[in-house]
Amino acid sequence: MKPTDASMPVLERYDAATEPVQPAPPRLPLRSAWIEINTRRLRRNFEIVNAFKPRQVQVLSVVKDEGYGHGALTVGRAALEAGAAYLGVATLDEALALRASGLDAPILLLGPQQETEMPWCVRHALTCAVQDAAQVKALARVAARAHQRAPVHLKLNTGMNRYGVRWTDALSLIELVLAQSSLELEGVFSHFAMSDEADKSFALLQLERFQSVLAQLAARRIHLKYRHLCNSGGLLDLPQAHFDMVRIGLLPLGVYPSRVCRRLPGLAPVMTVKARIASIQAIGPGESVGYGMRYTAPNHRRIAVLPLGYGDGFPRVRNQGGALIHGRCAPLVGGVAMDALTVDITDIPEARLWDEAVLLGRQGDAEITVQDVAQLKNSVSYDVLTGWRARLPRVSVTE
Ligand SMILES: *Cc1c(COP(=O)(O)O)cnc(C)c1O
Repeated sequence: MKPTDASMPVLERYDAATEPVQPAPPRLPLRSAWIEINTRRLRRNFEIVNAFKPRQVQVLSVVKDEGYGHGALTVGRAALEAGAAYLGVATLDEALALRASGLDAPILLLGPQQETEMPWCVRHALTCAVQDAAQVKALARVAARAHQRAPVHLKLNTGMNRYGVRWTDALSLIELVLAQSSLELEGVFSHFAMSDEADKSFALLQLERFQSVLAQLAARRIHLKYRHLCNSGGLLDLPQAHFDMVRIGLLPLGVYPSRVCRRLPGLAPVMTVKARIASIQAIGPGESVGYGMRYTAPNHRRIAVLPLGYGDGFPRVRNQGGALIHGRCAPLVGGVAMDALTVDITDIPEARLWDEAVLLGRQGDAEITVQDVAQLKNSVSYDVLTGWRARLPRVSVTE
């Protein structure tokens, strides 16, 4: 078992059996609640994605927000080993952390850049997404001063209405970029507002707008290396929108963006959240559990305490959801506290202190899916994956 990557807590599971006779520098024991990142599944998921997509379509692996909580370096490395052409992040800090870890692959900065950030972008060979004339001119000045030719991707607003130049105004900005000798217009892209639901009508309208810009480029014999529009949902369901590259974050993690999008056989979730039973209480009828006395036992019950809570990112629910112990679901009873939650193990008599419980993922034939936890959180799978806090250690496993 190896630590996940340099940007995540470096912790290894304490193993008394392999403890050397000559004392090594003390290694911190792993906390009794943790996240496992299965790097073998991660690699296999990238292979499955590769086998599904057309050969000539490149992959931009989106590793923003620590690779959706899986470790940006872990996911980025797996992506590049699987042949990804590009990495994508949201912020300059995220990009610089990857560079500091020795990744020299192309990185697209998807988020906005202030002028003060541009010298760093140029110095560290980051590809900026540009969307207005002032930004293009500022970046061109910075790149010229550094005697560099900085690659840029033009961001089009085709209906998301957050970032990007409106598709109807794209051409003049494209011409402005082309006029800057210190900039290289390497790509043009846009982002779907809704690509993974059954109703594709808005996605198709965005595609049409995107294509209208591409047609203007073609008419002027402007050839760009990367035209990209698809996220995970688009990759799965909109083959006519694949163009030269797809930007995927969620899918390689083995999680689908929606219930209705296409399934890829063999794809499996990479993240598992685990804890060990840290206390067992036998309570009688009428006795309550935890803060606020939110659960009262109807009869004799056996209660297990799992040492993680909302301070670790677990949804602050009460009497909802549960944990897998010995391959069965122990229902959550009472409220979730900052550092602990309680489950009813009356029907799992073999459960013992320090037994392993699964809060997200598979145990035996039972599974708690990301969607299940998202429902508890009244949110989406993306939020569940990125929502685990840094104090929950990540360990990498290969099964
Ligand atoms: C986050 C992001 C993606 C990745 O979306 P997934 O649904 O996770 O594949 C793609 N493009 C942009 C611009 C993004 O911000």
